[in-house]
Amino acid sequence: MGVTWHRNAFVDDAKATVSVRAKAFNYGLGCFGGIRAYWDERQDQLFVFRLRDHVERLVESARILGLESPFPAERIAEIVIELLRRNRCRTDTYVRPLIFVDSDALSPTLTDVPVSLAVYSLPFGRYFSTPHVHCCITSWRRVADNAIPARAKPTGAYLNSALARAEAKRNGFDEAIFLTESGEVSEGSAEHVFLLRRGQLVSPPSTADNLEGITRRTIIELARSAPLSIDFVERSISRTELYVADEVFLCGTGAEVTPVGRIDHRRIGSGGVGKVTRAIQERVAEVTHGRDERFAHWLTPVHGGTTRSRASKPAGKARPARKPAARRR
Ligand code: PMP
Repeated sequence: MGVTWHRNAFVDDAKATVSVRAKAFNYGLGCFGGIRAYWDERQDQLFVFRLRDHVERLVESARILGLESPFPAERIAEIVIELLRRNRCRTDTYVRPLIFVDSDALSPTLTDVPVSLAVYSLPFGRYFSTPHVHCCITSWRRVADNAIPARAKPTGAYLNSALARAEAKRNGFDEAIFLTESGEVSEGSAEHVFLLRRGQLVSPPSTADNLEGITRRTIIELARSAPLSIDFVERSISRTELYVADEVFLCGTGAEVTPVGRIDHRRIGSGGVGKVTRAIQERVAEVTHGRDERFAHWLTPVHGGTTRSRASKPAGKARPARKPAARRR
């Protein structure tokens, strides 16, 4: 049993509850984030990955919904760190902050309502159990940004994700890839999509009704820079282009970098883990586990020191030099 931040305090997990009448429960009125923290055995330390970016996106998600975040991004970052400390997290961990309409009144409104923050954590390993996945193009279309803002992470929008994922699972696939209403590749149920063709890495823009992704941004930056130095272009992708790609992968905070072996029963490349995908996977793992000082500013240490960490200083000092940590996967 650990603690959860609920409303304005840390409480026992079991006490972090809402009423069955809650608007957040009845109508999905709120937005959330998903953050990973990686345990580094060598340094005996837990590092939160891109905490500042995650809390800023959460506050922006609230703004898109027209809700005012009960706390500024910096304070939410402090709460996340404090939560991980209080829960004595010493393993790879997932953190879920939620900003929600905290009212039990009947109508589905976003104005003149109390808004609360909840943050909980849980130990979290791999999102997919297999080294590569078989995806389908779901018959459900991605919810349009002008219907339920896909750029944000609104709680209610995950019915769209759940419908697609359920369809995929029922039909024997591992994951679903959405098209937009106009038929372009959008994203997975909780991941972004990249393809590799003729040596060029491609991913659709956020205007294809997908979330402003933090892992996606990480991959673009790492792919373009040394040692990977891969050509990347952001442009719209059509379904059939996925079928003829040399490699396809999904990415997200939960899914990390997940190779796609097949789509709609068509083999992608070798049908396993592509060479470039493998290199990107390894590069991302290197950075998330603190083995590249150039990206140390993306990591916030949890244990020891003060809660005012690099989370509030984007280009903070690099951590002291150390031996590379042992690979864990
Ligand atoms: N798309 C959707 C719909 C998601 O829920 C997620 C997970 N947050 C992603 C993409 C991946 O985004 P990120 O890399 O920021 O976690």
